[in-house]
Amino acid sequence: MTAEIISVGTELLMGDVINTNSAFIACELKGIGVNVYRISVVGDNSARLTDALKTAASRADTIILTGGLGPTQDDLTKETVAEYLNLEMIFDKSSWDNIVETLNKRGRPVTENNKKQAFFPKGSAILKNNCGTAAGCAVTANGVTYIMLPGPPYEMEAMFKNEVIPILTQKSDIRFYSKTLRICGVGESAVEDMLNDIIASQTNPTIAPYAKTYEVHLRVTASAASEKTARALAAPVVDKIYAILGDNIYGEDDTTIEDAAITLLRETGYTIATAESCTGGLLAARLVNVPGASGVFMEGVVTYSNEAKIKRLGVSPATLEQYGAVSEQTAKEMAVGIAKGSDTNIGVAITGIAGPGGETNGKNVGLVYIAIFLNGQVTVNEYHFTGDRTKIRDGSAQTALDMLRRVLWRLKRE
Ligand code: ATP
Ligand code: MG
Repeated sequence: MTAEIISVGTELLMGDVINTNSAFIACELKGIGVNVYRISVVGDNSARLTDALKTAASRADTIILTGGLGPTQDDLTKETVAEYLNLEMIFDKSSWDNIVETLNKRGRPVTENNKKQAFFPKGSAILKNNCGTAAGCAVTANGVTYIMLPGPPYEMEAMFKNEVIPILTQKSDIRFYSKTLRICGVGESAVEDMLNDIIASQTNPTIAPYAKTYEVHLRVTASAASEKTARALAAPVVDKIYAILGDNIYGEDDTTIEDAAITLLRETGYTIATAESCTGGLLAARLVNVPGASGVFMEGVVTYSNEAKIKRLGVSPATLEQYGAVSEQTAKEMAVGIAKGSDTNIGVAITGIAGPGGETNGKNVGLVYIAIFLNGQVTVNEYHFTGDRTKIRDGSAQTALDMLRRVLWRLKRE
């Protein structure tokens, strides 16, 4: 199977919006063994889109389009494909019902031009949109499948996973199975290095590392005549990777590091509170991302000033005076203070210099201390993050979650 991706939207050509949809789709296609031959971007213009369709259809058997499924005049992807393939546009009642229901739920008026979103090229399979009004569609003509997806990334990604992958795997007689292992605490090159031998010797399953923000995802993909066989091919390789990377792997597939941390808190029966300085509540926000966090996460405070650290957490003025707010000693007292004050088993504290200013007495931007109080003991680590303020703050929150889940994991194993 060979595919081309066409992103439709003038905003993409103007540089106002980054074409993340194409990257996402290309990545997904690679995961199921589909070769992408070309990626193009076309403005909201029917003649130029027709032109792009013509060339793509001469080279590929699968063309994936994103954008231009909306209700307005400049949304013309389905109409252009229909015209190019000489197909009528047909009204789909169930899509229309879904549009009306979604708009009603959002308290938005149903207008005449919304109807446009319920018309599809004749013979299309309708691709459900669980996150918005624009359904997608897939139609095959002259051996080429045209898959039309909405532009908003959140809607497109969900539709791709739920609706498109099954179509593509159906189209080929090969079945795929893939598992993503999520790693934190080791960089991409170190991961590759540790797995060098298996990555090099492995063709089925393939092992592909993806660098994410402060973590690495490893996707193991096996192909076979049945999903069961593909699964069986992947399993021993996944086991081998676990044996090498051990608890650097915090979760699988869609599990986030905060999911992993909250699950471990639930399993161990521990409660947690957080005290943050430079991250300004990012750690608390990450924990609250997880539904049901309320069972284990009691309180999060942002103690930005020295006064707040003294008043809310009981950090000693002498410690602040002697070692400074960004120090191992202060981090420790913050972690103990928040756990005592909120009556939790665990207290996590973050204090650091997010920059760009704020360098003092040999303490550089990016210096961050993270402390965890647990069972009467405090562990504190010193980190040196690089990058801008956002990157340093994100790295601090992520690393605190990593420290937390490692501590809990060890506890669970004991
Ligand atoms: P809508 O109903 O919102 O109009 P649509 O299917 O018509 O949806 P577009 O109008 O093309 O989609 O795009 C809607 C928004 O989605 C764009 O403003 C942009 O923010 C985002 N978007 C579109 N295409 C891409 C892309 N290739 N990569 C990333 N974001 C995109
Ligand atoms: Mg639109």
